[in-house]
Amino acid sequence: VGDRKDFDKEVASVCPFCGVGCQISLKVKDGKIKYVEGIDGPANQNRLCVKGRFGFDYINHPHRLTKPLIRRDDAPAKGMNVDPGNYLDVFREATWEEAMDRAAGGLSELRDTQGGQTVAGFGSAKCSNEEAYLFQKLIRQGFGHNNVDHCTRLCHASSVAALMENVGSGGVTATFNEIENADVAIVIGANPVENHPVAATYFKQFAARGGKLIVMDPRGQALKRHASHMLQFKPGTDVAMLNAICNVIVTEGLFDEQYIDGYTENWDAEREHLKRFTPESMSEICGIDAETLRDVARTFAGAQSAMIFWGMGISQHTYGTDNSRCLISLALMTGQIGRPGTGLHPLRGQNNVQGASDAGLIPMYLPDYQSVTSAEVRASFDALWGAGTVAAEKGLTVTEILQGIHDGQIKGMFIQGENPAMSDPDLDHARAGLAMLDHLVVQDIFLTETANFADVILPASAFAEKTGTVTNTNRQVQMGRPAVPPPGEAREDWRILIDMGQRLGLDWTYSHPRDVYAEMASTMPSLDHISWDRLEHQAVTYPTSGPDDPGQSILFADGFPREGGRARFTPADVIAPDEQPDAEYPMVLTTGRQLEHWHTGAMTRRATVLDAVEPQANCSLHPHTLRDLGVEAGGYVTLSTRRGRITVMARADRAVARDMVFLPFAYVEAAANLLTNPAIDPIGKIPEFKYAAVRVEKASQP
Ligand code: SF4
Repeated sequence: VGDRKDFDKEVASVCPFCGVGCQISLKVKDGKIKYVEGIDGPANQNRLCVKGRFGFDYINHPHRLTKPLIRRDDAPAKGMNVDPGNYLDVFREATWEEAMDRAAGGLSELRDTQGGQTVAGFGSAKCSNEEAYLFQKLIRQGFGHNNVDHCTRLCHASSVAALMENVGSGGVTATFNEIENADVAIVIGANPVENHPVAATYFKQFAARGGKLIVMDPRGQALKRHASHMLQFKPGTDVAMLNAICNVIVTEGLFDEQYIDGYTENWDAEREHLKRFTPESMSEICGIDAETLRDVARTFAGAQSAMIFWGMGISQHTYGTDNSRCLISLALMTGQIGRPGTGLHPLRGQNNVQGASDAGLIPMYLPDYQSVTSAEVRASFDALWGAGTVAAEKGLTVTEILQGIHDGQIKGMFIQGENPAMSDPDLDHARAGLAMLDHLVVQDIFLTETANFADVILPASAFAEKTGTVTNTNRQVQMGRPAVPPPGEAREDWRILIDMGQRLGLDWTYSHPRDVYAEMASTMPSLDHISWDRLEHQAVTYPTSGPDDPGQSILFADGFPREGGRARFTPADVIAPDEQPDAEYPMVLTTGRQLEHWHTGAMTRRATVLDAVEPQANCSLHPHTLRDLGVEAGGYVTLSTRRGRITVMARADRAVARDMVFLPFAYVEAAANLLTNPAIDPIGKIPEFKYAAVRVEKASQP
């Protein structure tokens, strides 16, 4: 980057990648971001990971969309057949006027001729809170139903379902930084060193000062080096292992009776339920010996202050809600909630998945998780948005919407900043659905795999090109600011949404994200005392008791937001993953992210440094498995499941069990989700990305 002091201006903003929400300073020279530094945000205290520090130059990539595009009349049939850098044989450039006319016209025609319920929307956890609010309002007000969702469905929907059910609130009960005050912490089904790298630095510091770090994961990971206990359990056996740990706490009388009596309900049922999950009987199922399970139970229950962190390894299962219920029960029975150094923390994935969910970008809840099924709630939104605006029926989720296309129920979609043609399970099915739509409008910064299927593409803005608030995994609301303008004719997302709303006939008069925030905050008690002006000057953790209170990093010191004020124990049974290995597909496939790449790769594979470090699709196998296959590290393997087949370069990795393969999902040339199982958790409706039966064979070529 040359002379690091040589810049024209510096702009404080928030990293666009993970839910940690690191604050950054963008150094701009000659209209371009020259480099990035970490600043003293509440979550990161000047720290950054490789993505935050070096992952910004995708915004200057030549593939950026700079003009609205309309599918040509003579375009080939919809499919995965568009070059993102050379697409004029499929799409033609258009003016904003023509493109918006076509985009809104197609959606409103479906609404007016076939009914509003034939149109669905996916909003984005990469956009701001204001944009998420506008998007869900646009679908609800513009089409009269709740068929609006976003990628939370693919990440922590089951965690949120369990938290809402048992503690009455979907957010974290304590910030991850609270680990500073803990003496024991469990990290389960998460790989923070790769996925929440700055949070991981706090976890390592915790271990370095003597905190006991209990890591539980079917795959080994870098945090293992800092762990007092590493439980590499058999994939798909979380409930068996966690119930066995809880069984020890019950049978050895290690539970906190006073806390249970004062703050919980349904303990007797939980206690009775746990009796049969003895460490001996569960040991064979989960692969962890009984004495280790006892030791972990005693260590956790004996802590003065203990926290539980979890990630997609818990949530992305057909029993993801049960997994989270077990973790909640563990914290409740030991009284490890509501004090410094205690709490439950599902590590949120996207930079604004917390905020987008809070803003109502989900089919069953309006902003602040107010249920669409409540007449009182609907009446309050109708008073603001117009009589009869909010439908009483819960809408369809991401996976249900894609199925709804196949079933002929959904005929048009508006997709903003999401990439279901890469991110959804069983991609052949998802892509076939997108190709069936009568009218698809995609709003994005690149011609993504999903945009391949679009009728109209609206060029949007990257994080560094617009104003808006975002909310991180810690419930900290922070201000994102523009450092550079959008390229060419691209526009800020909020402007496009307002234009779309007006063309759909909505009486929208917002002229700045500030106006949107004011309306949104008026519907969300969680944002009481958090004004736009306040956020211009400081990050605020919600909830906050007044304009001078920086916010509550720890919740539920004195009861829970449930009827009666008590949290609930919900017993969980052992349920096997939807698909089991067999003679044809003898191994287990699990998917996830890598440190350098973000989700479907649209941004990070166009970031020079990150792509240089990790340029190639890969999977990880145990060296002995590779040897048995006759494959050298760096050679190729073909992975086949009941849904698809890909060929990919294989790495040797001792952290992966011998009967398992780990596959990152950022690479379109070997798309992991061609293989994944679309079976969903019946409550959270989240697919089982973490477990599928797979066959691995030697291949000669990619
Ligand atoms: Fe960005 Fe997350 Fe890295 Fe922080 S830890 S710099 S928010 S990717």
